[in-house]
Amino acid sequence: MISDATVLERYPNIRLDHVNKQLYKGYLEQRLVLGRCDDCGRWHTPLRPRCPSCWSASVAAAPVSGRGTVHLLTLLHQGPPVVDYSRPWPLAAIELVEQPGLRFVGTLVDCPAPRIGLPVELTWITRDDAPWPAFRPASQSAASGSAASEAADVVA
Ligand SMILES: [Zn+2]
Repeated sequence: MISDATVLERYPNIRLDHVNKQLYKGYLEQRLVLGRCDDCGRWHTPLRPRCPSCWSASVAAAPVSGRGTVHLLTLLHQGPPVVDYSRPWPLAAIELVEQPGLRFVGTLVDCPAPRIGLPVELTWITRDDAPWPAFRPASQSAASGSAASEAADVVA
């Protein structure tokens, strides 16, 4: 079990509270957890103490598959000095398969041709010695057999 102190130590630049700490505890376990309502079953992000759909307080952080498509894409040429901008840094809003409109923002990695509509899957990168979620082209999206087997080799 990951303690609150560990989350504070590993993500010192995040303003943590008792709701969003669950997201970062998930990061440390390399699980992307978003809010899920026990009453209406709808997902939401960011995590909230009440369901934004039905206002129920029966919400919990639950893992998502991390599969989705690029909904919005921004190529950053400058920003906080935590990443390398020698190439445009792709920041994408991913529409997750769990629910229409459920979107999570992260960078794209191993993605030579980022584009809207690209199927992606969750992966993890390390920044400031802590895990962060990122997205890469989905291995199933490869149209040709050879590309699919290359992707399988990378996973293996
Ligand atoms: Zn609800």
